[in-house]
Amino acid sequence: MNSRVVIRRCAEYKTELVQAAVSEAVRAACDWPALVRGKKVLIKINLLTDAPPDKAVCTHPEITRALIRACREGGAAEVTVGEQPGMQLSESPELAFENSGTAAVCREEDARMAPFSRFGYREVEVAGALKLRQLLVANLLLDAEVVIDAAKLKSHIQALYTGAIKNWFGVVASRDRKRSHHLNKLEPFSESLVDIFRVRPPDLTVMDAIVGMEGRGPGEGNPRHLGLVIASTDAVAADTVALHCADYARMNVPHVRIAAEQGLGKARLEEIDLDGPAIADVRVAFELPPRSFTNPPKIVTSVIYRFWSIRPKVLADQCQLCEACAKMCPVGAITMGETAAVINREICIECFCCHEACPHGAIGEKPTMLYRIMRWRERRKLAR
Ligand code: SF4
Ligand code: SF4
Repeated sequence: MNSRVVIRRCAEYKTELVQAAVSEAVRAACDWPALVRGKKVLIKINLLTDAPPDKAVCTHPEITRALIRACREGGAAEVTVGEQPGMQLSESPELAFENSGTAAVCREEDARMAPFSRFGYREVEVAGALKLRQLLVANLLLDAEVVIDAAKLKSHIQALYTGAIKNWFGVVASRDRKRSHHLNKLEPFSESLVDIFRVRPPDLTVMDAIVGMEGRGPGEGNPRHLGLVIASTDAVAADTVALHCADYARMNVPHVRIAAEQGLGKARLEEIDLDGPAIADVRVAFELPPRSFTNPPKIVTSVIYRFWSIRPKVLADQCQLCEACAKMCPVGAITMGETAAVINREICIECFCCHEACPHGAIGEKPTMLYRIMRWRERRKLAR
């Protein structure tokens, strides 16, 4: 049976516009309000870090507000807004809620604001795991009766793209985020993302694609207007449609492909019924993240993605010696030099956590030879 994905236009983050788009989208995507009536609902947002809404790093607070209101109107018994930001904020996750505008929305709309680490984790066996057989998963996710994936459409330097599936990275404890990052090559890392996602997939995805992020996401890219809200009970299909809307389907994103191969949803447009404008009418070609290629040959996605990588590089003239990258690095590969941070290549696992953590855009990429060859091949193809 085909999956259904709803697209609704929403030009900007005005409360009434977002509310109308989200309310319409959830009603068209599922049996709403029956889904939430009388239930304990968790809205899992994307709060990578403590960035303000205009940076397009986090799920916009107006999306969160609209979802809380839709749940309340639908008769939800309890509404919780949950997330655990990046490891650089593991001691103070509330900062991400405050600075992203989410905390204010939770207070105004009387929803519980819940950094996952404050409510604990428990060990879960992952049936059918590809890489991570046990995971420490947020109690709030496991105990919720209904889970809504309030994802944000962005480019991602390590996973190529982040939307609905990748948003689940936030539901596991730091221990497992580190284990996942240690599988630093794209294909195994993507398999671990699917393991995390399959523990407890969302009942509904509502993606903030009003302003997404292109280029050097998930934290340092440029905001890019798309003007859409995308909703589906199939998160893989929601990601698939989002990829096509941002013209990111040209990258052949491994974690979305693998999730479909694992039977977790649909990743081919022929298997998706669209409700809303045609993709061709809303598509905006987002700038690709650094290690991606347009229409890579199959061998690249299935074999070479297992082995290749790009390396982080400190941009010395931008470094402020703030140490945020050193605190975030899972293997202790960063020390402070006299004028800039220094990466120890011998132990760096190329996870790009430092890129996510750096508040000054001072972690760039050093391409490998293979990467240069592939870029050269791509430029030649485009020139013909
Ligand atoms: S230096 Fe950066 S990319 Fe390398 S292991 Fe540390 S955080 Fe990851
Ligand atoms: S690279 Fe970024 S995070 Fe690391 S010390 Fe320099 S400015 Fe701070």
